[in-house]
Formats: sequence, structure tokens, C-alpha cells
Amino acid sequence: MVNKIEHIGIAVKNIDDANILFQKLLGVPPYKMETVETESVVTSFFQTGTNKIELLMATNPESPIAKFLKKKGEGIHHIAFDVEDIEAEVARLRKEGFILINEKPKPGADNKMVIFLHPKSTNGVLVELCQEIK
Ligand code: ZN
Repeated sequence: MVNKIEHIGIAVKNIDDANILFQKLLGVPPYKMETVETESVVTSFFQTGTNKIELLMATNPESPIAKFLKKKGEGIHHIAFDVEDIEAEVARLRKEGFILINEKPKPGADNKMVIFLHPKSTNGVLVELCQEIK
């Protein structure tokens, strides 16, 4: 079962500039910054109430974020849904015909196991499923 929107991911060219901008916009500083080596991204997270925003910047030109920025420019990159049991959701969504980008969930930013659904199968929206690592 999908619980709620966990966060919205936004691709940015310069995360230091974007941190300043989002701090002005939201009135709070990022609560963490984290590099995910396997995805070649630097992330920062903001929380307002129960809502989270994740900023993503590429660390090299081969990063999926670098390719996204080249194609579409800065903006909303993905919507992440919090799930109770990511393995069960993956099995359920596969059966429903969704295309998964990765074979299996893997460690992502912010202490989560994550997996992405291909936008081809979700009306053009890159969807991330995430489950808190306990
Ligand atoms: Zn995310």
C-alpha cells in the first residue's frame, strides 16, 4: 500500500544557490545534505510541516540528473511515495504492468530503500517508491 507522498524531488544546476533560494522560500534551512555515490547526485532535504522537498544536483555529466537537466532543464524531477513494504509494492506494481527502472530496491538518500518506476508507464511522471530503513 502507498501511504503518502514522501517528498518531491527537484533537479537543480547548483545546489548551493538552490539551498539559499529554498531557504528563503520555505523559511527553514535544509535539515540534511547527502551525496549518493551510486546515483552521482548531491541531495539536500527541506521539511515544512509533514512535507519534504529534495533538491538534486549531478556530481558528474553521466549522472541521471545531468541528463535530465540537459533534456528538460531545472524543475520537478520525481514524486516519491512512502510505502510500508517496498518488496511487496514492487511485486504488486510489476504485476500491474508498471515498468521499473531498477531490478531491486537499493539504498537511496535520507535513510531509505528506493526504487523508480519508468515515466513511460506512469503518464510521464518519474515515480520513486521509498521505505524507511529501520
Ligand atoms: Zn527522491
